[in-house]
Amino acid sequence: MNSHSAFPITQLAITPKSLGKVDILAPVSYIGEGFLSLTDFARLQLETSHLDAQDGFYCELRTHHQDGGVPVMEVSLKGQMQLACQRCLQPLIFEFSQKKHFVFVKTEEEADEFPLDDEAQEALVASHHVDLLEAIEDEILLAIPYAPKHPAGDCQMSQAGEGLGDENPFKVLKSLKK
Ligand SMILES: [Zn+2]
Repeated sequence: MNSHSAFPITQLAITPKSLGKVDILAPVSYIGEGFLSLTDFARLQLETSHLDAQDGFYCELRTHHQDGGVPVMEVSLKGQMQLACQRCLQPLIFEFSQKKHFVFVKTEEEADEFPLDDEAQEALVASHHVDLLEAIEDEILLAIPYAPKHPAGDCQMSQAGEGLGDENPFKVLKSLKK
């Protein structure tokens, strides 16, 4: 007997409304794919320098139940948004592509104790109304660089930025190898 086929597959709409409240304890396996516009994410919008119609994230997800009935979810996100370069203040495209594995646990304590050694894995507390939109937004927010900058050459301020402690990491790497 294959325990993974025990639950019927249910289509999950990739919309803010549907992802905002997912019954992860329901005896079903979810599957869904679709595009989330940047305007669907309130917190990400605060980080953007300006909004392009194509900005947003393509999302593909599926859930299944591990042995013992623990729900798990695979999410794959791919997309882009625009940040402001911290050197020249011009728009900079932030590309994001990530696969994440969520394990649903029973309590907040269990989630806190979840081992952090694997960045591709994360624990969420299972409930009848899990906010997956928030979880997805958290993942993208965490990946946004603290001080995004154009690569040296592409930046309008690259000349002026020279010698201000902004060492080219490849140059540093080269000198380390010698
Ligand atoms: Zn720049």
